[in-house]
Amino acid sequence: MTYYLWGHLRMTKTESIIIIGASHGGIACAERLRKLGFDGKITLIDRLAGLPLERPPLSKQFLLAAGEADDSGFLLRSADWFDENGLDLMAGVAVASIDVGAKTLLLDTGRNLAWDKLVLATGARPRVLELGALSVGDAEGVVMLRHGDDARVLRARLREARRVVIIGGGYIGLEVAASARKLGKSVVVLEAAARLLARVASVEASAFFAELHQSQGVDVRCDQQIAGVDSGRIVFADGGALDADLVVVGIGVIPNTELAEAAGLAVGNGILTDRHYRTSHADVFAIGDVALAADGYTRGGLRLESVHHAQMSADIAAACLMGETPPPHEVPWFWSEQYHIRLQSAGLVPPDAQNSQNSQTITRHGRREGQISFWSFAQDGALAAVEALGDAQAYMVGRQLLEKGVAISPEVIGDSDTDLKTLIKG
Ligand SMILES: Cc1cc2nc3c(=O)[nH]c(=O)nc-3n(C[C@H](O)[C@H](O)[C@H](O)COP(=O)(O)OP(=O)(O)OC[C@H]3O[C@@H](n4cnc5c(N)ncnc54)[C@H](O)[C@@H]3O)c2cc1C
Repeated sequence: MTYYLWGHLRMTKTESIIIIGASHGGIACAERLRKLGFDGKITLIDRLAGLPLERPPLSKQFLLAAGEADDSGFLLRSADWFDENGLDLMAGVAVASIDVGAKTLLLDTGRNLAWDKLVLATGARPRVLELGALSVGDAEGVVMLRHGDDARVLRARLREARRVVIIGGGYIGLEVAASARKLGKSVVVLEAAARLLARVASVEASAFFAELHQSQGVDVRCDQQIAGVDSGRIVFADGGALDADLVVVGIGVIPNTELAEAAGLAVGNGILTDRHYRTSHADVFAIGDVALAADGYTRGGLRLESVHHAQMSADIAAACLMGETPPPHEVPWFWSEQYHIRLQSAGLVPPDAQNSQNSQTITRHGRREGQISFWSFAQDGALAAVEALGDAQAYMVGRQLLEKGVAISPEVIGDSDTDLKTLIKG
């Protein structure tokens, strides 16, 4: 609705906000809008049917859960929650196109919906392994994991399988490997790069996870060049082969930018946004995994794939939608669980610490047995990231040092006499 005052256009009241994608980002945005007092119409649209499930457990506890019928413990929010917050959830309906000029969108049912403001929380989908003419994602017996339906297929297939091969040694591949081992399966992890977690973790953390999985009986193979996958048989470029009952491909994700691109919004490896998650159209925001944001943390464009980023970007976008001052960017954080080990990381491991054997990463052992943390420093000497394994204190201190921008030297961190708690006092 447009308000006219003294005959001039005065302001436009937002009456209807549509959020495309009802997962971690979309739901957090709707929740924040209500908390900030938005009393207009909020519609969440998701192509997945049913109530949305949490994503992180899908590679962990969900695969171990016995009951196929009742997954209610994994719901992101209950049906009541949507009602209590006055949210209109349209599940099992895909958005086919957006007209940013007319401020409408077209559903795959043929219905048109009007919006005043639009939030794109369309996330990402698993990258398909392309081998010449063959897309391995399409091959029989291959499973990829992103949402609840994928996880249900994987859970059922895991029950049947004896030999599981996981292509991709990233966090999802490794979490699935840990779950499969817990179920007593024989597991091989095939990674194309020279080390596990090569895109995201320090060299030291990669080595830690390789040893962890090997100690749990996983056959971890790096530098693997796969030539083909056919009926559960993996053929390598050097002519070797490996048989599997179940092949899981987890080689990263592709952001779902197609809707935005077709609507004429600026996209790259994600939907381009400013640091407040506003796209190239002033009334359209993009949040979560799909957003390629010029963020305040690194000053460059960054696309982050984590629950924390989905929530933080949702909070910032919601404040902007309400015309309020958005909260500041937080230092990114992430967690993973594999076997009995919980990783908590804060900050971003700099590329030099990711790629060079000569990294500036300091290893620190915690007070209790098995606690270990890796502290990566940027080339300018500033602390850039902490990866803590089973060491909540190292994680909390590292995160606070990063949040506050406290200058700390590698020597202080490397000194086993340093009491971490004292570093964040005052
Ligand atoms: C198995 C697994 C384990 C993970 N574990 C962790 C973890 O331990 N820690 C962590 O921090 N992060 C983890 N993540 C990552 C985290 O779940 C994602 O970063 C987060 O889900 C991103 O939220 P999102 O809302 O941006 O996107 P998504 O969760 O990808 O949701 C996007 C939604 O948009 C919908 N959608 C897309 N296009 C359309 C359309 N045209 N019409 C209608 N609907 C559409 C999709 O159906 C989907 O539901 C994990 C992810 C997976 C898959």
